[in-house]
Amino acid sequence: MSDNYDVVVIGAGPAGYVAAIRCAQLGMSVACIDKRIGSNGKPVLGGTCLNVGCIPSKALLDSSQRYSDITNKMAVHGVNIKGVKLDLETMMGRKERIVGNLTAGIHSLFKANGITWLEGSGRVLAGKQVEFTGQNQEAKIIATENIIIATGSSPIEISSASLDNNRIVDSTGALEFANVPKTLGVIGAGIIGLELGSVWRRLGADVVVLEAQDTFLSMVDQQVAKEAKKQFSQQGLDIRLGARVTGTEVKGNKVTVTYVDTSGDNELVVDKLIVAVGRRPNTENLLSADSGINLDERGCIFVDENCQTDMPGIYAVGDVVRGPMLAHKGSEEGMMVAELIAEHKAAVNYETIPSVIYTHPEIAWVGKTEEELKKSGDAYQVGVFPFAANGRAMAAEDTAGIVKIIADKKTDRILGMHIIGPSAGDLIAQGVIAMEFAGSSEDLALTVFAHPTVSEAVHEAALDTLGRAVHIAKKRRPAK
Ligand code: FAD
Ligand code: AMP
Repeated sequence: MSDNYDVVVIGAGPAGYVAAIRCAQLGMSVACIDKRIGSNGKPVLGGTCLNVGCIPSKALLDSSQRYSDITNKMAVHGVNIKGVKLDLETMMGRKERIVGNLTAGIHSLFKANGITWLEGSGRVLAGKQVEFTGQNQEAKIIATENIIIATGSSPIEISSASLDNNRIVDSTGALEFANVPKTLGVIGAGIIGLELGSVWRRLGADVVVLEAQDTFLSMVDQQVAKEAKKQFSQQGLDIRLGARVTGTEVKGNKVTVTYVDTSGDNELVVDKLIVAVGRRPNTENLLSADSGINLDERGCIFVDENCQTDMPGIYAVGDVVRGPMLAHKGSEEGMMVAELIAEHKAAVNYETIPSVIYTHPEIAWVGKTEEELKKSGDAYQVGVFPFAANGRAMAAEDTAGIVKIIADKKTDRILGMHIIGPSAGDLIAQGVIAMEFAGSSEDLALTVFAHPTVSEAVHEAALDTLGRAVHIAKKRRPAK
């Protein structure tokens, strides 16, 4: 094994492994260091996303949605099912199998691309050197031309709810409950809290979500957020806003959670508690004092728009740098950095990164919210179409939600798309592509969408932006 590479990547999550593969495709010699140990006790690739993030959470969201549909939603289709039984062990086994297949897939890609996988920890030293400490605790120095730091993030812990990894868990623990808790508390109504709360609600838990902020999903367009709150409440998620958790106590099999809201001090007693209050960048023991790499005010590695740190030839990508903590954002940064190292032109368009919440209904958005545009004073026009008027959504008995398009008042250029409803996470790609091509709502309005599909709601929202939606009766506006 050579101890001298063109590129050393630290971290094999979606930011790091994509960067490593692209560098190798571009003809560079690449080593990728990762210290993660999988649930089978062996080193594993794929980072948070594949092991304890995107993939296992989506596996459980899909399984739990099927269970919930079969128990609650089949009679309307004329399908009567009795004696439905939940086999949580099999559900968890399926999740583990998917994770295993995907992480093994990354290993195969590494082999196919000639990437050296170094199992252990990496630390950046001065002079573009990396200290690698293997599983046997032996350290060695690796010389390299370029370093890509992709060390990701970890759940934030709060002193008012210290984890005991049994009754009080973080998102990783919440993917591994052996039984469905009768009562479940979730601290934080962010994306992760809502997704995990939904999984266990669907499987039968009584779920209370405590959120310190007064506004529900403050980063989401508030028309969409209001609909989401309504839908989640109907599903039995008890979301309490303005509720700041101040303490927890584990007594026997229960957790007592104390929180403050406008009514004063409150108590909630639950079987399990998930702490989902955000994530922090992984930078501990990562940089020697003389590495020349600096952190920003939020503790992320400071980088410019090219993901270059303060040291030439040393880059950082993914959750460890500014921007949304999303797998696809990290992957695109990884790809960009590989191209830049190869002296190609490359950039990431941060204006068109989609976000998705994989609840039911799904929530997805790209670009500016109406609240942001009101604040900036930019003139805009809005088109909205409800899935309740979409034939395919009706056929599927899945009519909750809307598509909302916001376009520049003068130029009609699309500034944002906001969806709550069936397949929102897939539909949003249409908004992303339209925005990437600097498209207008008229461009979408003039595009042919297949019938009957839920994507026709995007078409109708675009038509509505121009005052000419067909399948909804609205007070007449002057048509354009
Ligand atoms: P990571 O995936 O965190 O990978 C970094 C890797 O580096 C880790 O394996 C870590 O062990 C390793 N490492 C750290 N320090 C060192 C070191 N010094 N030496 C060696 N190795 C090191 N995002 C989405 O886009 N869609 C989703 O649906 C989604 N769902 C999520 C659900 C959950 C429950 C969670 C927790 C997260 C979810 N995310 C989702 C976020 C997503 O997982 C992250 O944005 C993504 O994993 C970040 O990728 P990364 O490569 O930057 O870091
Ligand atoms: P996100 O960062 O999107 O994963 O969301 C985490 C959420 O947790 C944010 O909306 C925070 O307001 C919320 N939060 C953080 N600390 C607390 C707390 N002590 N009590 C209740 N909610 C909290």
